[in-house]
Amino acid sequence: MNPVTVIVGSSIGGVRTAQALRASGYDGEVLLVGEETALPYDKPPLSKGLLAGKSTVEDITLLTEEAAAEAGIRLVPGRAATGLDVAGRWIELADGERLRFDDLVIATGARARPSPWGGMPGVHVLRTLGDAEALARDLGKGGPLVVIGAGFIGAEVAATARDMGVEDVTLVDPAPAPLHGVLGPELADWCARLHAGNGVTTRFGVGVDGIDRSAEGLLVRLADGKRFPAATVVVGIGAVPCDDWLRSSCLRLDDGVVCDAYGRAAENVYAVGDVARVPHPRKNALVRAEHWTSTVEQAARVAHNIARKESPRAHEPVEYVWSDQYDNTIQITGHTGGPLSAVTVPGPDPGRAFARLYAEPDGSFAGAVTVNWPRALITCRKAVGSAASLEEIRGSVSAKRPVTKTGARP
Ligand SMILES: Cc1cc2nc3c(=O)[nH]c(=O)nc-3n(C[C@H](O)[C@H](O)[C@H](O)COP(=O)(O)OP(=O)(O)OC[C@H]3O[C@@H](n4cnc5c(N)ncnc54)[C@H](O)[C@@H]3O)c2cc1C
Repeated sequence: MNPVTVIVGSSIGGVRTAQALRASGYDGEVLLVGEETALPYDKPPLSKGLLAGKSTVEDITLLTEEAAAEAGIRLVPGRAATGLDVAGRWIELADGERLRFDDLVIATGARARPSPWGGMPGVHVLRTLGDAEALARDLGKGGPLVVIGAGFIGAEVAATARDMGVEDVTLVDPAPAPLHGVLGPELADWCARLHAGNGVTTRFGVGVDGIDRSAEGLLVRLADGKRFPAATVVVGIGAVPCDDWLRSSCLRLDDGVVCDAYGRAAENVYAVGDVARVPHPRKNALVRAEHWTSTVEQAARVAHNIARKESPRAHEPVEYVWSDQYDNTIQITGHTGGPLSAVTVPGPDPGRAFARLYAEPDGSFAGAVTVNWPRALITCRKAVGSAASLEEIRGSVSAKRPVTKTGARP
């Protein structure tokens, strides 16, 4: 009998695992089970092009029915998994049906952390296509918009809303500046100025006490007593892994599914993407990355480990995430921000492009944030985990600046 791999979760982690299984020559059955009824779609555009109306649902579709059929991937949409029996090798779906597997891949991702100030009309989170469509409809009516949380999602929503012509946008966060943890104070201040310069009212270093609703609309109350009327509020305060359906299984859950270096949570059971907590060799810790690229890399690795059980490969994560805000692409690789010492290297267009390089306490290169400078990012990404010093990487990155006709670097 042909082996069966069941993949639960049909977004980027699930789709890429299924496709990588086929690319590795796996000839068993592949079932892709997803609770959503929509065709699998990609999430990064939900806070960017799709929200702004610049891309369509078709543009962000990851796998059409035809492509799935051609690849021999059986789509099982609109069915949530509710339980797992590892020893018996089956999962249970919400309607009681059991699906047997030889190998299982858990790719159920994460969901938006709900608003602690209550859900009410006009108050949004952003994680799914439905969330993005509902938010786009409300933003289409204009502002005021209050975005609570200046992490990746909140900062992108504020930027996209301004691009959409929403006049009155306020961005609030108890941290001193957007993305403060990953960027570090200096660059986070640049990000705060970026938003202010694009007409966003910024309120950093202050939390939210509550959201009220009256006949006039919503009112966001800040801890410092200030009040911001809003037609729409976006709560972007992080995500929680979708691992509840595994509570009664024997898997180790700890803010996600705990895996070994091969992505294995148990014999014949693997996890990838936002739901997976995997060992990070350089950090000597279990890490749950909520980033697109690490999801794709884990999917490839786990597919290999299922298709080629005799030669498993361990994850070798190199952190990478990008964020688009206004006309800037911010790319982050390795260990950045926090208390690390850092230097800034001006890019080819110093007004717009630069790199900030971070050093570990021993002077070795830790990671980088680049802004509008993809070539520098490539250099830095390759260097993460090498023994190179910050100064060596500074030299290599500076060499990426184009030389002018006179021989001088601009
Ligand atoms: C708005 C937004 C913008 C982003 N932008 C960026 C970006 O610019 N750069 C970047 O690096 N990353 C970005 N990310 C993060 C990136 O999209 C995620 O890391 C990636 O989607 C994780 O993929 P995943 O397949 O692990 O999980 P998910 O994308 O969360 O997909 C999980 C799927 O599993 C389904 N599911 C959950 N529970 C069950 C169940 N019990 N049974 C069946 N199905 C289930 C869900 O419905 C979902 O379809 C963004 C995320 C969001 C939400």
